[in-house]
Amino acid sequence: MARKFEGGKLVIASHNPGKVREIGELLAPFGADVISAGDLGLPEPVEDGATFIANAEIKALAAAKASGHVALADDSGLCVHALNDEPGVYSARWAGPGKDFTVAMQKVEEALNAADAQDRSAHFACALTLAWTDGHVESFEGQVHGAMTWPARGDKGFGYDPTFVPDGFKTTFAEMEPAQKHAMSHRANAFKKLVAACFANA
Ligand code: IMP
Repeated sequence: MARKFEGGKLVIASHNPGKVREIGELLAPFGADVISAGDLGLPEPVEDGATFIANAEIKALAAAKASGHVALADDSGLCVHALNDEPGVYSARWAGPGKDFTVAMQKVEEALNAADAQDRSAHFACALTLAWTDGHVESFEGQVHGAMTWPARGDKGFGYDPTFVPDGFKTTFAEMEPAQKHAMSHRANAFKKLVAACFANA
């Protein structure tokens, strides 16, 4: 059985304001006293894992050990099927040092064109790891499937949202209200698994 989060401070092991906001909103019903690694000035560990779960564990363990509190990390990315699931764990890096996702979205589109890909299907994946200061971890993964669209549309959300249309919808994630995205996203799916396993009041 998974270890439970017993309440109190929970460090969100991310320096990405978009993610911290989404995770904070998803955690709101569970009464956790949330603070971000960025607010605490914690260093960002090197994310050199080969999988989303490996990277989530690196980040959560580093934040738990540095802060002395239970920490929650998210590692996520876009997997484009015609590109052998790239950018995958390199999704943030495709945006370059300026973290410019206009550049990253353009790179994905150029790669699809270069591959002459008819298949524009893709999924977002999200791994969530809850880590304790004694090194114990609980990890969960969720996905949402859809297709890449071009040109980019919408100004809500973050990252690759303006070019991703989830299956069954005509709007991109960036055109949806946050609540609609949260109800179906890869992060929401991983979250459902996490709270069912680790939050006593789920
Ligand atoms: P990391 O998990 O911090 O390594 O970064 C993952 C990257 O994947 C983010 O910076 C985004 O570019 C992208 N990504 C992850 N989740 C989403 C999402 O919900 N929408 C759009 N892009 C996302």
